[in-house]
Amino acid sequence: MSYCDRPGLMPIEQALKTILADVKSVTSVIEVPLVGCLGKVVAQDIVSFVDVPPTDNSAMDGYCLALADLEKAVDGMLPVSQRVPAGVVPEALEPGTAARIFTGAEVPEGADVVVMQESCSEQDGCVLLPPMLALRDNIRDQGQDILKGSVVVSKGQRLRPQELGLLASVGVGSVPVYKPLKVALLSTGDELIEPGEPARPGTIFNSNRYTLRGLLQALHFEVVDLGVVADTFDATEEALIEASSADCIISSGGVSVGEEDHVKLAIEKLGRLNLWKLAIKPGKPFAFGDVKGTPLLALPGNPVAAFATFLLLCRPYLLTKQGVGNISTPTFTLPANFSHKKAGMRQEYLRANAEVVDGTMMVNTYPNQSSGVLSSTCWGNGLVLAPIGQTIQQGQAVMFMPYNDLLY
Ligand code: AMP
Ligand code: MG
Repeated sequence: MSYCDRPGLMPIEQALKTILADVKSVTSVIEVPLVGCLGKVVAQDIVSFVDVPPTDNSAMDGYCLALADLEKAVDGMLPVSQRVPAGVVPEALEPGTAARIFTGAEVPEGADVVVMQESCSEQDGCVLLPPMLALRDNIRDQGQDILKGSVVVSKGQRLRPQELGLLASVGVGSVPVYKPLKVALLSTGDELIEPGEPARPGTIFNSNRYTLRGLLQALHFEVVDLGVVADTFDATEEALIEASSADCIISSGGVSVGEEDHVKLAIEKLGRLNLWKLAIKPGKPFAFGDVKGTPLLALPGNPVAAFATFLLLCRPYLLTKQGVGNISTPTFTLPANFSHKKAGMRQEYLRANAEVVDGTMMVNTYPNQSSGVLSSTCWGNGLVLAPIGQTIQQGQAVMFMPYNDLLY
Protein backbone atom coordinates (compact mmCIF):
# COMPACT_ATOMS: atom_id res chain seq x y z
CA MET A 1 0.00 0.00 0.00
CA SER A 2 1.50 3.37 -0.94
CA TYR A 3 1.26 6.31 1.40
CA CYS A 4 -1.33 7.90 -0.86
CA ASP A 5 -3.82 5.11 -0.15
CA ARG A 6 -3.57 5.72 3.56
CA PRO A 7 -5.64 8.24 5.39
CA GLY A 8 -3.86 10.84 7.51
CA LEU A 9 -1.03 13.20 6.99
CA MET A 10 2.63 12.48 6.41
CA PRO A 11 5.14 13.78 9.00
CA ILE A 12 7.67 16.16 7.50
CA GLU A 13 10.68 13.92 8.20
CA GLN A 14 9.07 11.12 6.21
CA ALA A 15 8.09 13.52 3.43
CA LEU A 16 11.66 14.79 3.17
CA LYS A 17 12.99 11.25 3.07
CA THR A 18 10.49 10.35 0.35
CA ILE A 19 11.26 13.28 -1.90
CA LEU A 20 15.02 13.05 -1.39
CA ALA A 21 15.01 9.32 -2.15
CA ASP A 22 13.69 10.24 -5.57
CA VAL A 23 16.25 12.92 -6.51
CA LYS A 24 18.27 12.52 -9.65
CA SER A 25 21.11 15.02 -9.44
CA VAL A 26 21.99 17.10 -12.46
CA THR A 27 25.04 15.84 -14.36
CA SER A 28 25.59 18.54 -17.03
CA VAL A 29 28.78 20.44 -16.32
CA ILE A 30 29.66 23.85 -17.73
CA GLU A 31 32.86 25.89 -17.38
CA VAL A 32 31.91 29.32 -16.03
CA PRO A 33 34.22 32.36 -15.69
CA LEU A 34 34.83 33.12 -12.02
CA VAL A 35 32.91 36.41 -12.25
CA GLY A 36 29.72 34.45 -13.01
CA CYS A 37 30.16 31.75 -10.38
CA LEU A 38 28.30 33.18 -7.39
CA GLY A 39 25.90 30.52 -6.06
CA LYS A 40 27.03 27.87 -8.54
CA VAL A 41 27.82 24.31 -7.43
CA VAL A 42 31.32 23.01 -8.12
CA ALA A 43 31.38 19.84 -10.23
CA GLN A 44 34.87 18.62 -9.29
CA ASP A 45 37.48 19.21 -6.60
CA ILE A 46 39.55 22.29 -7.41
CA VAL A 47 43.23 21.81 -6.59
CA SER A 48 45.63 24.71 -6.13
CA PHE A 49 48.66 24.83 -8.41
CA VAL A 50 50.39 27.47 -6.27
CA ASP A 51 51.30 28.20 -2.65
CA VAL A 52 49.48 31.15 -1.09
CA PRO A 53 51.33 33.27 -0.23
CA PRO A 54 53.81 32.27 -2.93
CA THR A 55 56.84 33.24 -0.75
CA ASP A 56 57.51 34.36 2.81
CA ASN A 57 56.38 37.98 2.97
CA SER A 58 56.27 40.84 5.38
CA ALA A 59 53.20 41.47 7.55
CA MET A 60 54.40 45.02 8.33
CA ASP A 61 56.03 48.11 6.96
CA GLY A 62 59.46 48.03 8.64
CA TYR A 63 62.89 46.43 8.42
CA CYS A 64 63.98 42.84 7.98
CA LEU A 65 67.21 41.26 9.13
CA ALA A 66 68.82 38.03 10.29
CA LEU A 67 68.22 37.83 14.02
CA ALA A 68 71.77 36.51 14.66
CA ASP A 69 73.19 39.73 13.09
CA LEU A 70 71.48 41.90 15.70
CA GLU A 71 73.57 40.30 18.45
CA LYS A 72 76.73 41.34 16.57
CA ALA A 73 75.44 44.86 15.80
CA VAL A 74 77.09 47.89 17.40
CA ASP A 75 74.53 49.71 19.63
CA GLY A 76 71.66 47.90 17.91
CA MET A 77 72.41 49.61 14.57
CA LEU A 78 72.63 47.88 11.18
CA PRO A 79 73.27 49.43 7.78
CA VAL A 80 70.29 49.38 5.39
CA SER A 81 71.40 47.54 2.28
CA GLN A 82 68.26 47.44 0.09
CA ARG A 83 64.67 48.63 -0.21
CA VAL A 84 61.98 45.97 -0.85
CA PRO A 85 58.52 47.22 -1.82
CA ALA A 86 55.69 44.76 -2.65
CA GLY A 87 55.88 43.52 -6.23
CA VAL A 88 59.66 43.29 -6.60
CA VAL A 89 61.87 40.25 -6.24
CA PRO A 90 64.53 41.15 -3.65
CA GLU A 91 68.24 40.34 -3.64
CA ALA A 92 69.47 37.96 -0.95
CA LEU A 93 70.09 39.97 2.23
CA GLU A 94 73.71 41.12 2.53
CA PRO A 95 75.11 39.62 5.78
CA GLY A 96 75.32 42.07 8.67
CA THR A 97 72.71 44.42 7.20
CA ALA A 98 68.99 45.12 7.36
CA ALA A 99 66.61 45.83 4.48
CA ARG A 100 63.79 48.34 4.36
CA ILE A 101 60.63 46.29 3.64
CA PHE A 102 56.92 46.99 3.13
CA THR A 103 53.72 45.04 3.83
CA GLY A 104 53.24 42.17 1.40
CA ALA A 105 56.81 42.39 0.05
CA GLU A 106 58.81 39.20 -0.36
CA VAL A 107 61.22 38.62 2.52
CA PRO A 108 64.77 38.42 1.12
CA GLU A 109 66.67 35.19 1.50
CA GLY A 110 68.75 35.34 4.69
CA ALA A 111 66.26 37.50 6.67
CA ASP A 112 64.32 35.77 9.42
CA VAL A 113 62.54 38.58 11.25
CA VAL A 114 60.66 41.77 10.37
CA VAL A 115 60.52 44.69 12.80
CA MET A 116 57.70 47.21 12.48
CA GLN A 117 58.87 50.66 11.46
CA GLU A 118 57.31 52.30 14.53
CA SER A 119 59.90 50.47 16.69
CA CYS A 120 62.89 51.57 14.57
CA SER A 121 64.60 54.80 13.59
CA GLU A 122 66.69 55.30 10.47
CA GLN A 123 69.63 57.71 10.31
CA ASP A 124 72.49 58.14 7.84
CA GLY A 125 71.77 54.88 6.05
CA CYS A 126 71.58 52.84 9.27
CA VAL A 127 68.60 51.63 11.27
CA LEU A 128 68.40 51.52 15.07
CA LEU A 129 66.61 48.31 16.03
CA PRO A 130 64.92 47.40 19.31
CA PRO A 131 66.29 44.52 21.44
CA MET A 132 64.34 41.30 22.17
CA LEU A 133 63.12 40.27 18.75
CA ALA A 134 61.70 36.80 18.16
CA LEU A 135 62.58 34.63 15.21
CA ARG A 136 60.11 34.96 12.27
CA ASP A 137 58.14 37.73 13.93
CA ASN A 138 55.95 39.57 11.39
CA ILE A 139 56.77 37.12 8.62
CA ARG A 140 53.88 35.41 6.87
CA ASP A 141 55.03 31.94 5.87
CA GLN A 142 54.95 30.76 2.28
CA GLY A 143 51.86 28.55 1.85
CA GLN A 144 50.38 29.50 5.24
CA ASP A 145 46.98 29.99 3.61
CA ILE A 146 47.02 27.34 0.88
CA LEU A 147 49.58 24.71 -0.05
CA LYS A 148 50.18 23.80 -3.67
CA GLY A 149 48.35 20.55 -4.42
CA SER A 150 45.65 21.00 -1.78
CA VAL A 151 41.92 21.05 -2.51
CA VAL A 152 40.58 24.59 -2.16
CA VAL A 153 36.93 23.93 -3.04
CA SER A 154 35.34 20.49 -3.10
CA LYS A 155 32.90 18.91 -5.51
CA GLY A 156 29.35 19.70 -4.42
CA GLN A 157 30.25 22.93 -2.66
CA ARG A 158 28.28 26.09 -3.38
CA LEU A 159 30.33 29.16 -4.17
CA ARG A 160 29.84 32.03 -1.78
CA PRO A 161 31.71 35.34 -2.15
CA GLN A 162 34.49 34.06 0.10
CA GLU A 163 35.03 30.94 -2.07
CA LEU A 164 35.16 33.17 -5.15
CA GLY A 165 37.93 35.15 -3.44
CA LEU A 166 39.75 31.96 -2.46
CA LEU A 167 39.61 30.60 -6.01
CA ALA A 168 40.88 33.93 -7.32
CA SER A 169 43.72 33.82 -4.78
CA VAL A 170 45.01 30.58 -6.32
CA GLY A 171 44.66 31.93 -9.85
CA VAL A 172 41.59 29.99 -10.98
CA GLY A 173 39.86 31.99 -13.72
CA SER A 174 36.96 29.66 -14.51
CA VAL A 175 35.28 26.79 -12.71
CA PRO A 176 33.53 23.59 -13.82
CA VAL A 177 30.07 23.88 -12.24
CA TYR A 178 26.78 22.04 -12.58
CA LYS A 179 24.42 23.67 -15.05
CA PRO A 180 21.81 25.60 -13.01
CA LEU A 181 18.48 23.79 -12.85
CA LYS A 182 15.62 25.15 -14.93
CA VAL A 183 12.64 25.37 -12.61
CA ALA A 184 9.21 25.96 -14.14
CA LEU A 185 6.92 28.05 -11.97
CA LEU A 186 3.12 27.99 -12.17
CA SER A 187 0.55 29.94 -10.16
CA THR A 188 -2.92 28.42 -10.24
CA GLY A 189 -6.06 30.40 -9.47
CA ASP A 190 -8.84 32.17 -11.38
CA GLU A 191 -8.82 34.89 -8.74
CA LEU A 192 -5.27 36.00 -9.45
CA ILE A 193 -4.32 39.26 -11.12
CA GLU A 194 -0.82 40.65 -11.47
CA PRO A 195 0.56 43.50 -9.36
CA GLY A 196 0.37 46.68 -11.42
CA GLU A 197 -3.07 45.81 -12.77
CA PRO A 198 -6.05 47.72 -11.37
CA ALA A 199 -7.72 45.89 -8.47
CA ARG A 200 -11.10 44.44 -9.49
CA PRO A 201 -13.88 42.88 -7.44
CA GLY A 202 -13.38 39.14 -7.07
CA THR A 203 -9.63 39.25 -7.55
CA ILE A 204 -6.49 39.20 -5.43
CA PHE A 205 -2.96 40.04 -6.47
CA ASN A 206 -0.72 37.11 -7.25
CA SER A 207 1.88 37.19 -4.48
CA ASN A 208 3.12 33.59 -4.58
CA ARG A 209 4.61 34.09 -8.01
CA TYR A 210 6.90 36.79 -6.63
CA THR A 211 7.74 35.06 -3.36
CA LEU A 212 8.57 31.79 -5.11
CA ARG A 213 10.43 33.43 -7.95
CA GLY A 214 12.48 35.37 -5.41
CA LEU A 215 13.22 32.20 -3.45
CA LEU A 216 14.35 30.40 -6.62
CA GLN A 217 16.50 33.34 -7.64
CA ALA A 218 18.05 33.58 -4.16
CA LEU A 219 19.18 29.97 -4.60
CA HIS A 220 20.53 30.74 -8.10
CA PHE A 221 18.20 28.53 -10.13
CA GLU A 222 16.96 29.49 -13.58
CA VAL A 223 13.26 30.33 -13.40
CA VAL A 224 10.94 29.48 -16.28
CA ASP A 225 7.94 31.53 -15.23
CA LEU A 226 4.79 30.19 -16.88
CA GLY A 227 2.49 32.68 -15.15
CA VAL A 228 -1.06 31.99 -14.05
CA VAL A 229 -3.03 28.82 -14.79
CA ALA A 230 -6.83 28.87 -14.83
CA ASP A 231 -8.75 26.59 -12.48
CA THR A 232 -9.80 24.01 -15.05
CA PHE A 233 -8.50 20.51 -15.53
CA ASP A 234 -7.62 21.17 -19.16
CA ALA A 235 -5.68 24.35 -18.44
CA THR A 236 -3.84 22.64 -15.58
CA GLU A 237 -2.98 19.64 -17.73
CA GLU A 238 -1.79 21.83 -20.60
CA ALA A 239 0.36 23.99 -18.29
CA LEU A 240 1.93 20.96 -16.63
CA ILE A 241 2.79 19.42 -19.99
CA GLU A 242 4.46 22.68 -21.06
CA ALA A 243 6.29 22.88 -17.70
CA SER A 244 7.55 19.32 -18.00
CA SER A 245 10.30 20.42 -20.38
CA ALA A 246 12.06 22.05 -17.40
CA ASP A 247 14.20 20.10 -14.89
CA CYS A 248 11.61 20.51 -12.18
CA ILE A 249 8.17 22.09 -11.72
CA ILE A 250 6.90 24.16 -8.81
CA SER A 251 3.26 25.11 -8.67
CA SER A 252 1.19 26.95 -6.11
CA GLY A 253 -2.46 26.45 -5.26
CA GLY A 254 -5.07 24.06 -6.58
CA VAL A 255 -3.68 21.06 -4.74
CA SER A 256 -6.33 20.73 -2.05
CA VAL A 257 -9.56 18.74 -2.20
CA GLY A 258 -11.98 21.32 -3.62
CA GLU A 259 -13.74 21.13 -6.97
CA GLU A 260 -11.52 23.97 -8.16
CA ASP A 261 -8.33 22.05 -7.32
CA HIS A 262 -7.03 20.23 -10.37
CA VAL A 263 -3.31 19.81 -9.76
CA LYS A 264 -3.45 16.49 -7.94
CA LEU A 265 -5.73 14.90 -10.54
CA ALA A 266 -3.60 16.23 -13.38
CA ILE A 267 -0.45 14.74 -11.80
CA GLU A 268 -2.23 11.41 -11.45
CA LYS A 269 -3.21 11.51 -15.10
CA LEU A 270 0.14 12.70 -16.50
CA GLY A 271 2.53 10.92 -14.19
CA ARG A 272 2.67 9.68 -10.65
CA LEU A 273 1.72 11.10 -7.25
CA ASN A 274 4.25 10.09 -4.59
CA LEU A 275 2.93 11.92 -1.62
CA TRP A 276 0.14 14.28 -0.74
CA LYS A 277 -0.80 16.14 2.42
CA LEU A 278 1.63 16.78 5.24
CA ALA A 279 1.32 16.93 9.01
CA ILE A 280 2.64 20.49 9.10
CA LYS A 281 1.07 23.87 9.63
CA PRO A 282 1.12 25.87 7.49
CA GLY A 283 1.54 23.62 4.47
CA LYS A 284 -0.85 20.66 4.66
CA PRO A 285 -1.87 20.57 0.97
CA PHE A 286 1.53 19.73 -0.49
CA ALA A 287 2.04 17.16 -3.22
CA PHE A 288 5.09 15.59 -4.78
CA GLY A 289 5.16 13.51 -7.92
CA ASP A 290 6.17 13.70 -11.53
CA VAL A 291 4.67 14.84 -14.79
CA LYS A 292 5.96 12.92 -17.80
CA GLY A 293 9.07 12.07 -15.76
CA THR A 294 9.71 15.67 -14.59
CA PRO A 295 9.49 16.07 -10.81
CA LEU A 296 6.77 18.35 -9.54
CA LEU A 297 6.50 19.96 -6.13
CA ALA A 298 2.95 21.28 -5.79
CA LEU A 299 2.75 23.88 -3.02
CA PRO A 300 -0.33 25.11 -1.23
CA GLY A 301 -1.94 28.34 -2.41
CA ASN A 302 -1.98 30.12 0.93
CA PRO A 303 0.94 32.54 0.73
CA VAL A 304 2.61 31.64 4.04
CA ALA A 305 2.16 27.93 3.34
CA ALA A 306 3.79 28.33 -0.09
CA PHE A 307 6.69 30.19 1.50
CA ALA A 308 7.17 27.66 4.34
CA THR A 309 6.89 24.53 2.19
CA PHE A 310 9.40 25.98 -0.23
CA LEU A 311 11.92 26.51 2.58
CA LEU A 312 11.29 23.16 4.26
CA LEU A 313 10.93 20.88 1.23
CA CYS A 314 11.70 22.53 -2.11
CA ARG A 315 14.98 24.02 -0.95
CA PRO A 316 16.59 20.72 0.16
CA TYR A 317 15.10 18.92 -2.84
CA LEU A 318 16.31 21.44 -5.43
CA LEU A 319 19.76 21.86 -3.86
CA THR A 320 20.26 18.10 -3.79
CA LYS A 321 19.13 17.92 -7.41
CA GLN A 322 21.59 20.71 -8.21
CA GLY A 323 24.41 18.52 -6.85
CA VAL A 324 25.02 20.23 -3.51
CA GLY A 325 26.85 17.76 -1.30
CA ASN A 326 26.01 18.96 2.16
CA ILE A 327 22.85 20.96 2.75
CA SER A 328 22.89 22.36 6.20
CA THR A 329 19.86 23.94 7.81
CA PRO A 330 21.14 25.24 11.12
CA THR A 331 18.66 25.41 14.00
CA PHE A 332 19.33 27.17 17.26
CA THR A 333 17.86 26.52 20.67
CA LEU A 334 16.55 29.73 22.19
CA PRO A 335 14.26 30.55 25.09
CA ALA A 336 10.70 31.42 24.07
CA ASN A 337 9.53 34.93 24.81
CA PHE A 338 5.96 33.77 24.08
CA SER A 339 3.62 30.99 24.98
CA HIS A 340 1.86 28.64 22.57
CA LYS A 341 -1.15 27.31 24.37
CA LYS A 342 -2.73 25.00 21.81
CA ALA A 343 -1.06 21.65 21.23
CA GLY A 344 -1.61 20.92 17.53
CA MET A 345 -2.07 17.76 15.47
CA ARG A 346 0.47 19.04 12.96
CA GLN A 347 4.02 20.27 13.44
CA GLU A 348 3.82 24.06 13.36
CA TYR A 349 6.30 26.50 11.91
CA LEU A 350 5.59 29.79 13.63
CA ARG A 351 6.80 33.01 12.09
CA ALA A 352 9.20 34.34 14.64
CA ASN A 353 11.74 36.96 15.53
CA ALA A 354 14.91 36.33 17.52
CA GLU A 355 16.30 39.34 19.34
CA VAL A 356 18.14 40.29 22.48
CA VAL A 357 15.77 41.07 25.34
CA ASP A 358 17.42 42.43 28.51
CA GLY A 359 20.76 40.98 27.48
CA THR A 360 19.44 37.53 26.51
CA MET A 361 18.71 36.25 23.01
CA MET A 362 15.04 35.22 22.97
CA VAL A 363 12.49 34.40 20.32
CA ASN A 364 9.03 35.88 19.91
CA THR A 365 6.22 35.01 17.50
CA TYR A 366 3.99 37.11 15.28
CA PRO A 367 0.53 37.57 16.83
CA ASN A 368 -1.40 36.39 13.77
CA GLN A 369 -0.18 32.99 12.56
CA SER A 370 -2.83 32.56 9.85
CA SER A 371 -1.41 31.02 6.67
CA GLY A 372 -2.84 33.91 4.68
CA VAL A 373 -0.99 36.59 6.66
CA LEU A 374 2.11 37.19 4.58
CA SER A 375 3.11 40.13 6.80
CA SER A 376 4.14 37.53 9.39
CA THR A 377 6.99 36.40 7.11
CA CYS A 378 8.30 39.94 6.70
CA TRP A 379 8.01 40.84 10.39
CA GLY A 380 10.62 38.47 11.76
CA ASN A 381 13.84 36.69 10.97
CA GLY A 382 12.98 32.99 11.13
CA LEU A 383 10.69 30.11 12.00
CA VAL A 384 10.10 28.46 15.36
CA LEU A 385 9.14 24.84 15.55
CA ALA A 386 6.11 23.87 17.65
CA PRO A 387 6.15 20.04 17.76
CA ILE A 388 2.97 17.95 17.41
CA GLY A 389 0.98 17.63 20.61
CA GLN A 390 3.07 20.05 22.62
CA THR A 391 2.42 23.45 24.12
CA ILE A 392 5.18 25.98 24.68
CA GLN A 393 5.57 27.94 27.91
CA GLN A 394 7.28 31.31 28.24
CA GLY A 395 10.99 30.70 28.86
CA GLN A 396 10.97 27.14 27.46
CA ALA A 397 13.72 26.23 24.97
CA VAL A 398 12.50 26.16 21.34
CA MET A 399 14.09 25.37 17.99
CA PHE A 400 14.63 28.44 15.83
CA MET A 401 15.54 28.34 12.13
CA PRO A 402 16.86 31.67 10.80
CA TYR A 403 15.61 32.73 7.36
CA ASN A 404 19.14 33.74 6.39
CA ASP A 405 20.22 30.11 6.43
CA LEU A 406 17.07 28.96 4.64
CA LEU A 407 17.37 31.51 1.87
CA TYR A 408 20.87 30.37 1.06
P1 AMP B 1 -5.85 27.09 -3.08
O1 AMP B 1 -4.78 26.21 -2.51
O2 AMP B 1 -5.73 27.24 -4.55
O3 AMP B 1 -7.19 26.68 -2.62
O4 AMP B 1 -5.59 28.52 -2.46
C1 AMP B 1 -5.64 28.75 -1.06
C2 AMP B 1 -5.67 30.22 -0.78
O5 AMP B 1 -4.50 30.81 -1.26
C3 AMP B 1 -6.81 30.96 -1.45
O6 AMP B 1 -7.27 31.94 -0.54
C4 AMP B 1 -6.17 31.59 -2.65
O7 AMP B 1 -6.84 32.74 -3.09
C5 AMP B 1 -4.80 31.89 -2.15
N1 AMP B 1 -3.84 31.89 -3.24
C6 AMP B 1 -3.66 30.90 -4.13
N2 AMP B 1 -2.70 31.22 -5.01
C7 AMP B 1 -2.25 32.43 -4.67
C8 AMP B 1 -1.26 33.30 -5.19
N3 AMP B 1 -0.56 32.95 -6.26
N4 AMP B 1 -1.05 34.49 -4.58
C9 AMP B 1 -1.78 34.83 -3.50
N5 AMP B 1 -2.71 34.04 -2.95
C10 AMP B 1 -2.97 32.86 -3.52
MG1 MG C 1 -6.99 27.90 -5.99
